[in-house]
Amino acid sequence: MNQHYERLQTYLDKRAALLSAMTLMEWDNETLAPVKAAEKTARCMGILTEGLYHSIVNAEAIGLIHQLQEEEDLTEIQKAVVRTLAKELEKLEKISPKDERAYSELVSRSQMVWQKAKVEDDYDTFAPYLEQVVDMTRKRNACCRKEGQRLYDVSLYEYEEGFGIQELDVFFAELKKTIVPLLKRIQESGVQPNTDFVYRTYEVEKQKQFNLWLAEYLGFDLEKGVIGESEHPFTTNLHNEDVRITTHYDPNNLLSAIFSTIHETGHALYEMHIPDEMTLTPVGSGASCGMHESQSRMMENMIARSRAFWEPIFGKLKECFPDQLEDVDLDQFVRAINRVQADLIRTESDELTYCLHIMVRYEAEKKLLEESVPVSELPSLWNSLYQEYLGVVPECNRDGVMQDVHWAGGMFGYFPSYALGNAFAAQLYHKMAQELDIPQLLRDGQISGISDWLAEHVHCYGATKTAGEILQLATGESFNPQYYTRYLTEKYTRLYRLEEK
Ligand code: ZN
Repeated sequence: MNQHYERLQTYLDKRAALLSAMTLMEWDNETLAPVKAAEKTARCMGILTEGLYHSIVNAEAIGLIHQLQEEEDLTEIQKAVVRTLAKELEKLEKISPKDERAYSELVSRSQMVWQKAKVEDDYDTFAPYLEQVVDMTRKRNACCRKEGQRLYDVSLYEYEEGFGIQELDVFFAELKKTIVPLLKRIQESGVQPNTDFVYRTYEVEKQKQFNLWLAEYLGFDLEKGVIGESEHPFTTNLHNEDVRITTHYDPNNLLSAIFSTIHETGHALYEMHIPDEMTLTPVGSGASCGMHESQSRMMENMIARSRAFWEPIFGKLKECFPDQLEDVDLDQFVRAINRVQADLIRTESDELTYCLHIMVRYEAEKKLLEESVPVSELPSLWNSLYQEYLGVVPECNRDGVMQDVHWAGGMFGYFPSYALGNAFAAQLYHKMAQELDIPQLLRDGQISGISDWLAEHVHCYGATKTAGEILQLATGESFNPQYYTRYLTEKYTRLYRLEEK
């Protein structure tokens, strides 16, 4: 092995070990840790974070990384590792540790203020903090931006490299042109499936049994993963043989846990399929936020909201809840899980309207960072965008501009990656459907046929390639949002029988 790389490996091992420790503590915080643990644990985390920073930002490691950028005798994975670290360093070098600390203190304070202000529906208390976060983000972005980049581009690239304002303007214009009128037609059709059965009482113990079975059915390997519970479901991983998901049980909602479990399993399979030679390296994880979301959303929506998926397993669900589902047949169930309802809360939104929620946030973020629209005008901007895209307006800021934690936490640029994920999923699915008979695989319960294809065309690259490169390799085409709008248009025209009207 290249001697310099061998030397760097010591630092990489330390980095991986510290990251593992931090991941475990975060997992514990969200699942089992007692309430009072938070403060002291936060102190330990602070020390680990500092250790993580110095594991790479130290004279020898920096020298090695710069040296290795010039060297040829590295494997493809090693080259990708060096590239990733060099990028990290470049960013770290532009922001002083003092500014970094000030920023992280600000966002943690602002999140605390947000949490309380949200409960009390008190935007005025939160606004000054948000203003500071916007301000600091603009300053940081001004320091970090490359030639030709606009301020908001820097935030966008943090989550999805290659997808800046220019690309996203095209993407969202396409969505606006097709999805907004499609939603209007659905609303005007006056057709809505009956979903009363969803809200009957479903014993949590039985839900747990079904969800555990369901995750395994999808390919979740219980020898390499565990399923916990948390308020907000999420996926995390230490490496490819320790992948953890959570779900959340609501005794009065049958679908909530089921679709959370499916969504997180989509994320988990990605991490379980990362090759051994990549795991525990800086490229040993999913390629990007958007690509990760494409895997969870494909599983949740394109696969698990299809009739074919439920054909072999709806009986199993009915067996678990014979009384509650006695009067529900498969067709009724499938219509119910695909119900379109324009509403106010992003995390509860359906497949079709989800991207419209994101579009509101994209427009608003862009205005904050690019056009210096004052934070005081954000609620009215938010409400008018909801009116325009979804036809609904929140009565209070709690259900409006204050519903998500992202902006309080300084995570500008994150939202668009959710919408991109859906669109990546549609493009990948389209290609996969040319090579596999997906409905037949689903009817036969052969989910592995699908996950093997994803492993071979997406998961195998880890983060050695960008999302754009993976799309090109997997589908032979660069990003094309029309697969997504076409998929949604066809599916919902059919489900709501719009062509007959
Ligand atoms: Zn997700």
